[in-house]
Amino acid sequence: MGGMVTAAYLTKYFSRITIIESDNIQDDTLMKSTSSEILDYRCRLESPTSVGRSGVSQIYQTHVMEGEGHEILRELFPQLDNKLLNEYDIRNYSLKTELRFFVNGILLNQNLTKDIEWLGADRFTLETVLRKELCLQFENQIEWKCNSRVTQLIVDQSSNIVKGIKYRCKQTVGSPLFDMYGDFIIDCSGRNSSSTKWLKESLNLIVPTEQMHFGCGYVTFVGERLKTGNPKLDSIPVICSTVNAPDKNAGCYIVPMRTIKTSDENSLGTLAQISIHCVNSEFPPNDSYENLLEWIKENLDPDYYTILKSTKVYSPLIPYHRAIDDRKYVELLGKKWPQNYILLGDAMCTFNPQFGQGMTHACRQARELSKIFAENCHKLKDISHIFNSRASAISEECWLLSTTNDWKTPTLKIIKTDKNGQTKTYQRNGDFPATKDNQLRLPLLTKILQWYIGSFLKCASKSGQLSTDFLHVMNQQTSPFILFKPTILFTVCYTALMNCFNLSKK
Ligand SMILES: Cc1cc2nc3c(=O)[nH]c(=O)nc-3n(C[C@H](O)[C@H](O)[C@H](O)COP(=O)(O)OP(=O)(O)OC[C@H]3O[C@@H](n4cnc5c(N)ncnc54)[C@H](O)[C@@H]3O)c2cc1C
Repeated sequence: MGGMVTAAYLTKYFSRITIIESDNIQDDTLMKSTSSEILDYRCRLESPTSVGRSGVSQIYQTHVMEGEGHEILRELFPQLDNKLLNEYDIRNYSLKTELRFFVNGILLNQNLTKDIEWLGADRFTLETVLRKELCLQFENQIEWKCNSRVTQLIVDQSSNIVKGIKYRCKQTVGSPLFDMYGDFIIDCSGRNSSSTKWLKESLNLIVPTEQMHFGCGYVTFVGERLKTGNPKLDSIPVICSTVNAPDKNAGCYIVPMRTIKTSDENSLGTLAQISIHCVNSEFPPNDSYENLLEWIKENLDPDYYTILKSTKVYSPLIPYHRAIDDRKYVELLGKKWPQNYILLGDAMCTFNPQFGQGMTHACRQARELSKIFAENCHKLKDISHIFNSRASAISEECWLLSTTNDWKTPTLKIIKTDKNGQTKTYQRNGDFPATKDNQLRLPLLTKILQWYIGSFLKCASKSGQLSTDFLHVMNQQTSPFILFKPTILFTVCYTALMNCFNLSKK
């Protein structure tokens, strides 16, 4: 995803761009398929490898494209929206009238002061259509090398420059390594990027990292929503609830992905992606829909049970258990970081998926890179350092939102590696006895943020304006600092104080 958006942006500044991709994504099965064939693959197949997408194993999990990410796609691919809406039966939803959203157990106020448009597309369709658009628009500038896996960097150690990469053809057993050189190399290889290993091997550079394991689990499927007998529930297409650890470690997303024409009077005319998710390793079952429904009855709000009991399941129940918060603090390395090489998107930082930040984070970093090139005053050799500093500010915003919540997980485990390569593991209620060294201490800033966000959400449940502000931040359309502007800070603190005072009087 991030790779395609970056390539599109950089066509302004580079005459030739090569995308090296380990999966066979230029295959006719994907590139020539019609709208209904894509839907059919999406629903029928049991694992991402079935359509040759083992490189993005989360592709069948519910993905929402946040407002700012959608805006970036619109800017780069002016025809994309038209195609999605007219050829793929996808539609935009109004978050003012068509959303019910519980965050940390609190229902946001539905009287939003401004509407936010939200694209109801699934990741598989979105990515396939985007790739077709990229090929159409930039056919002469962008070359694809598919089925090719990057395995090493080619560097000049004395001048600290990455000059190219080595790759191997995936289809041929024992394929030799090929060299490819470039003026600027961008690693968009996602959450399993080997960049830290490559940098250590080729430049003896250790990247400080932090990984937070919070026992994240997903089960996702496609379903047709049928009438429940409760017209109020049936009238809301987008229904989401984040987890509220440590009290409620399960959540659910019901988000539309296609409209369908049907003669069934009982149908609501939408196919939805439905994800049940958890933290703290309290995984929902995926062995049968009956067992999943039982689990939902015990662990989620009764409305979810009502909706899902009346849902016709169209696809296998696909689990995903590998999501973590994973940050590479590239900005801390300053000029030790090599020239002409950057990490972008998940390769630099991954987040708890429940806030749907990852694709938009990658798009924003790609836009930032394009801005740096557009400023026209930087030497190529400085760009990786400028990018690291600006891109990490984007990561920091998303990281704070994710990790503030993830710190509430009862069995949280954190693994940190410092600049010298020293790795330490910290765990709360872990398998090993807590020594002074591996005890988890909640950072003060996180503690304050947890309190502030909790108090803010209570105010937002009663205020259309605060709910609108919160949704704009979640959609990455405004900076999170807007939630701390003096008038809001005052309202939140005043309300929290009054609540405290009233409680103590009782
Ligand atoms: C369960 C789950 C739910 C999520 N939900 C959302 C959501 O609702 N909204 C959202 O915005 N984000 C969501 N995300 C995050 C989102 O999937 C990622 O943030 C996003 O895909 C990042 O894009 P990327 O381009 O950095 O990496 P990817 O999209 O992962 O792309 C990496 C590409 O690199 C290729 N590749 C990998 N290694 C190599 C190699 N060695 N050589 C050549 N090619 C290689 C892969 O085949 C792939 O095409 C979710 C993630 C998970 C796990």
